[in-house]
Amino acid sequence: MSDTVLHGQYAERHIGTSSADQEAMGAAIGLGEHRAGEAPREAADAVVDSALPAAIRGLGAAGAHVPELGASEAEALAELRGLASRNRVLTPMIGLGYSDTITPPVIQRNVLENPSWYTAYTPYQPEISQGRLEALLNFQTMVADLAGLPTANASLLDEATAAAEAMLVARRAVRKAPATFVVDADVLPQTRAVLAVRAEALGIELVDVDLAGGEALPDQVFGGLIQYPGASGRVWDPSGAIDALHAAGGQAVVAADPLALTVLTSPGAMGADVVVGSTQRFGVPLGFGGPHAGYMVVRQGLERQLPGRLVGVSKDADGHLAYRLALQTREQHIRREKATSNICTAQVLLAVMAGMYAVYHGPHGLRAIAEDVMGKTALLRSWLVEALAGSDDAVVDAPYFDTLRVHVPGRAGEVIAAAHDLGVQLLPVDADTVGISVGEATTHTDLHRVAAAFGGPGERAFATFGSFPAGDQGWPVPAPLRREVDYLDHPVFSTHHSETAMMRYLKRLADSDYALDRGMIPLGSCTMKLNAAAAMAAISWPEFSRIHPFAPAEDVGGYLELIDQLADWLADLTGYDAVSLQPNAGSQGELAGLLAIRGYHRSRGDAARDVCLIPSSAHGTNAASAVLAGMRVVVVACDEMGNVDLTDLRNKVSEHRESLSALMITYPSTHGVYEHDVLDITAAVHEAGGQVYIDGANLNALLGHARFGDLGGDVSHLNLHKTFAIPHGGGGPGVGPVAAKAHLAPFLPSHEYAQGEEGTAGGSRGAGPVSAAPYGSAGILPISWAYIRMLGLEGLTEATDAAVLGANYLAARLGEYFPILYTGDHGRVAHECIVDLRPLKEATGITVDDVAKRLIDFGFHAPTMSFPVAGTFMVEPTESEDLAELDRFVAAMASIKAEAEQVAAGVWPAEDNPLVNAPHTAASIAAEWTHPYSREEAVFPSGVGAAKYWPPVRRIDQAHGDRNLVCSCPPVEAFSS
Ligand SMILES: *Cc1c(COP(=O)(O)O)cnc(C)c1O
Repeated sequence: MSDTVLHGQYAERHIGTSSADQEAMGAAIGLGEHRAGEAPREAADAVVDSALPAAIRGLGAAGAHVPELGASEAEALAELRGLASRNRVLTPMIGLGYSDTITPPVIQRNVLENPSWYTAYTPYQPEISQGRLEALLNFQTMVADLAGLPTANASLLDEATAAAEAMLVARRAVRKAPATFVVDADVLPQTRAVLAVRAEALGIELVDVDLAGGEALPDQVFGGLIQYPGASGRVWDPSGAIDALHAAGGQAVVAADPLALTVLTSPGAMGADVVVGSTQRFGVPLGFGGPHAGYMVVRQGLERQLPGRLVGVSKDADGHLAYRLALQTREQHIRREKATSNICTAQVLLAVMAGMYAVYHGPHGLRAIAEDVMGKTALLRSWLVEALAGSDDAVVDAPYFDTLRVHVPGRAGEVIAAAHDLGVQLLPVDADTVGISVGEATTHTDLHRVAAAFGGPGERAFATFGSFPAGDQGWPVPAPLRREVDYLDHPVFSTHHSETAMMRYLKRLADSDYALDRGMIPLGSCTMKLNAAAAMAAISWPEFSRIHPFAPAEDVGGYLELIDQLADWLADLTGYDAVSLQPNAGSQGELAGLLAIRGYHRSRGDAARDVCLIPSSAHGTNAASAVLAGMRVVVVACDEMGNVDLTDLRNKVSEHRESLSALMITYPSTHGVYEHDVLDITAAVHEAGGQVYIDGANLNALLGHARFGDLGGDVSHLNLHKTFAIPHGGGGPGVGPVAAKAHLAPFLPSHEYAQGEEGTAGGSRGAGPVSAAPYGSAGILPISWAYIRMLGLEGLTEATDAAVLGANYLAARLGEYFPILYTGDHGRVAHECIVDLRPLKEATGITVDDVAKRLIDFGFHAPTMSFPVAGTFMVEPTESEDLAELDRFVAAMASIKAEAEQVAAGVWPAEDNPLVNAPHTAASIAAEWTHPYSREEAVFPSGVGAAKYWPPVRRIDQAHGDRNLVCSCPPVEAFSS
């Protein structure tokens, strides 16, 4: 087939509106009025033309790298197969916090590969999110039980950043102590490196102490980090070190392997204040570094300091138990520079997988896996001891769980090469030491190969080795650290052990939820577009999924090529020179970009430049990230149009001229408008010696038409989980690449273990890593690669056009019923629009909340509420929705307005009407009906047909849950109210 036949295939699948639809939409919004006399143009293209300010239009098309035309799905998958074939799937026994695990196929198929789970949004609308909230509560209960502390959050980005967040929790808990944080000598090296970056920016001093070796602490510290078991694999008793940290006035943070915790005394029982770690080895593929769910659990008294999201238990309008996110007032959206952390997108899908791994295996199943791992390690150890007897080589003598260190003076490279030839990757600790880590997926054949690499016996009859003899003296762990099964006694962990039961449990939870597989999720600022099946396919291939992040470069050629290409494409599309894919979310890209700015100023002797100007309308992560980068936030006013107030900006720039570090600006603005003055704004900042950070989360309105680099940006982050089609996963994973001009490129994140050349993971003068893995969540990069490859520059541009046309169509149609708050040139918006519901409230008493909940009865996910303006909806349709769905939404909003008017007219009382009672459950209409409107009006309002979505709970009482904080699985009796 020729290109002309294939080209456009995917674009037509991806973009929801046909050209006929687009023409009709163009006519509906009066396109052409400004274009009299010009040649007719396609409506979607024309709307961007009329919306984009003249100064911006055509500023920079993409450069040479991005293919002009898209490949078909089949072609793109064939190319991905080619890349995959350049990765070598060996047995990864490298360890360092990443373990070869087995994803139960029932979880792979029904969670990881199921759009009901992966296309869901963050559960801010709890009534339509009970399934994933329950799954996250399982996760929280699991890690809290294993850690031996009461309150866990619903995931963090990875183990290293979780440790950094824990350091900040400790700092907030102990404000008066000196800014000194102790790091044990046996902490994972990548965790130490991430901590160093984060500490340096905040003026925290890290002090390395060999705690396991009994070395003394400084007199006064605010906290310290212990690894348990240690990075070397040594299992040691940290209770003395925890006591010493407490004696020095500090908080004790323990980074722990959750599988080891099924057989080892919990850190909580030994007095730890905070426990962090990674749940990767609970069935989550390695994926060359991620995505995986980090976790954090805290003692009583620290729950309000917890970063990230926290699922809690509350009740609905009928008093039934219901889940929702708790204590949200801690979050950056609300607290901005005073937030507990900048974490927004986390790792929900991976937390769901890890939690379900525990549900499926149960406490005794997990214990059996841990004993099997320990048993295989013991077996290998015995072979090595035998093989090395009489030589200078020796297995390091220490209690162990799954990891051994072998001392082979001068021979480490040789042994590792021999193992590699046999198909096993080991860890080069140093020239004399080899590290070996055993995982759930490690086979006896693998163990033989390792033994052979050390010159041990060849193939021998497999020992009749089963699981580790429980309670036996042969345990490699000292008796005081042995733990019995005192965890996961909630029935959910012992009910779904057959595949049938598990499949049905996952189905039941998925059915409770509203995701993109049911209908539009028109969330402004979130870009909930299609996550194509073809783009998702490759993430499950072992050549991408079973790759250790520190595998040798020779085994990851395909990954490096994919990463290089994707980075080049993104640089091209945004007008920058270098891209790092390391940050695990937009928030982390922001931090990395600001740290690059900081490093740049310092390299020029400008250490005093520490003011970050942030418009009042900015996303809350901006301010939170600036604080974490050691900057002072100065807020710039916005005008009544939501644009940066140029006069105030100029004043602030001159006021802080000497100390100006950066401006963070979002383009198009968070109000969804292409502001006119962006070139003047960036010029004013540059003129004063500042750098310009453009928040790239709204790139869906710009791609193919203008580039941040050409607007005066020095650095940006992009959200691949918004614009570039990585699914939202119910609140993560994400990828937040940071893209920069050449002068900032050397200051981008670096990583000691990066396999590629400088540029992709390597700022040569960078502060260090912002994620545990060199390429962050590399395992999901094939999704964005496929997205760009299948659309090509032409398709990407068409997608932008369709997204902007859709938003303008909605603005025009909704504008018939509600005021649209901000518009730019020719009355146009960009890719989203703000619907003002304040006049409705004034006239009828019906609130934004009522409208949002009533939309559930109509079968819609509510738009973004009260951001960036209180009392409003921000609506973003994206290019993937079709015209019928847009019209269905307009009709629902029109009906809701009519209902509100009935309330105002006194037809329905203010306290008993379909709006304040929304959403309506099936149970509520089966019960005795006393309302002044019919059951049919309640659950089948106009336009709702057979595809009715039934919410499982009624409106949830947020305040009740925060007052009575319960963040683990409630007992079964609690459901019978
Ligand atoms: C989504 C978003 C962010 C944060 O991205 P995360 O991946 O959630 O951390 C930052 N800025 C803007 C404007 C956004 O819309």
